[in-house]
Amino acid sequence: MAAQRTAVHTERRSELRAEVLVIGSGIAGLTAALRAAQRADVLLVTKGALADGATRRAQGGIAGALDPADSPAAHARDTLAAGAGLGDPEAVRVLCEEGPAAIAGLIAHGVRFDRADDGSHALCLEGAHDRPRILHAGGDATGRAIDDALVQAVRERSQHGSADGAGGAGRAGGTGTGGAGGSLALLEHTALVDLRLEHGRVVGAELLGADGTRRRVRARATVLATGGAGQLFSRTTNPAVATGDGLAAAWRAGAVLEDLEFFQFHPTALAVPGRYASFLLSEAVRGEGALLRCERGRRFLPGLDPRGELAPRDLVARAIAQVMATQEGRPVLLDATGIGAGRLRRRFPTLDGVVRAAGIDWGREPVPVTPAAHYGMGGIRTDLEGRTTLPGLYAAGECARTGVHGANRLASNSLLEGAVFGTRAGAAAARAQVSPQRVDRAPRAAVGLPRRAETGSPGPGPSCRS
Ligand SMILES: Cc1cc2nc3c(=O)[nH]c(=O)nc-3n(C[C@H](O)[C@H](O)[C@H](O)COP(=O)(O)OP(=O)(O)OC[C@H]3O[C@@H](n4cnc5c(N)ncnc54)[C@H](O)[C@@H]3O)c2cc1C
Repeated sequence: MAAQRTAVHTERRSELRAEVLVIGSGIAGLTAALRAAQRADVLLVTKGALADGATRRAQGGIAGALDPADSPAAHARDTLAAGAGLGDPEAVRVLCEEGPAAIAGLIAHGVRFDRADDGSHALCLEGAHDRPRILHAGGDATGRAIDDALVQAVRERSQHGSADGAGGAGRAGGTGTGGAGGSLALLEHTALVDLRLEHGRVVGAELLGADGTRRRVRARATVLATGGAGQLFSRTTNPAVATGDGLAAAWRAGAVLEDLEFFQFHPTALAVPGRYASFLLSEAVRGEGALLRCERGRRFLPGLDPRGELAPRDLVARAIAQVMATQEGRPVLLDATGIGAGRLRRRFPTLDGVVRAAGIDWGREPVPVTPAAHYGMGGIRTDLEGRTTLPGLYAAGECARTGVHGANRLASNSLLEGAVFGTRAGAAAARAQVSPQRVDRAPRAAVGLPRRAETGSPGPGPSCRS
């Protein structure tokens, strides 16, 4: 085996080989890599460190029908309703039915979700969910808890499976051990530049290391898990790595992209200059009772929607933007004073630290907030196994368009999507043979664009004047 591996390297000095190449190390990429490595030789490549990405920033939590009084069908109903009728019912069914197993998989990797006094998992309420079904960890540090556990699992897996140094990258240059258990090699600080195409099939990628090293990877299956594109906007909650690289590379290679027009703005990002600009104040703060007020202190949401501050994100974000327009662009106020300083500190330790570091005593005074680009519902069109329209190319997580979100993502469904469809894409990629593949579901364009009434006409907006 070792001799074979050396021979491959000598022959193709600058070309690494893997059965499955996974690009991106958020919840989708880590999950896909761990799953694929159960039977294939996997190379996981990521632009920064393993932990860089949106996953680590997630605060609110991960949705799942875990409560005995809840059901995947109820979760699916809320998901389809939030998506303005444009979600794919089959993809939503898979998401909600496989959600509890995906969450159990995270727990098996060591994620410790917060528990209630009776020892059961503490479930909280977020906007447009009809009941509490959001698991969280470390109060408001859910993404960090998930990321820490998955990164550790990947590092352990790569150490066990790796036969040589360089972060294990050379391992993927060797022969496959698929079927009898695969291997996992890592390459950090290395960016996808472009996909490699041969006869219409994706056969790997061109990479660029932070030190300027160029590498080529040849792979039977390539999984894009490169996350979102929030950095295209002037105000965003997204990390620096969220520059839409995977979308662009897939598009250049000829893959179908879909629903790119649906971009979610989070209603409540911190409206302060400097280090904490656009830091996200989770919906869960409103779930705990915080209210939104215009700069004169008047609430404006109850008049628009009976759910008030817990109305769907698009409605809340649009209402805030309209109120801001009536007060010359100045931010609205998130009033969390009713929650109390002690509970804010206990329930939202990360946020509490940030808000206070920004100079705001939010137990006593309101916090200025503004909408900010947060999540792209669209992306690279995939089927339920993560297969794109290009043979050899798979996608999962925020860069993919599975159809679960429709026109608008239900809060806390994206971590779940990453776990459920990352696992599916990893499994399918590991099984991939060099044969034609196709996406058998109709593109949404065939279904027709939403009518205005379906997405909610802005109508005459709320204002701070009256
Ligand atoms: C502030 C914030 C709070 C959020 N809160 C929640 C929440 O409470 N619940 C919820 O469900 N969702 C939440 N979300 C959304 C959720 O976090 C993301 O949708 C999800 O984590 C995306 O996972 P991912 O694996 O697709 O991408 P990411 O976690 O963003 O990972 C993308 C990976 O791709 C890598 N990458 C990018 N470009 C390249 C390239 N060219 N070459 C190599 N690697 C590349 C990145 O370095 C990174 O490792 C939140 C998002 C933000 C920004």
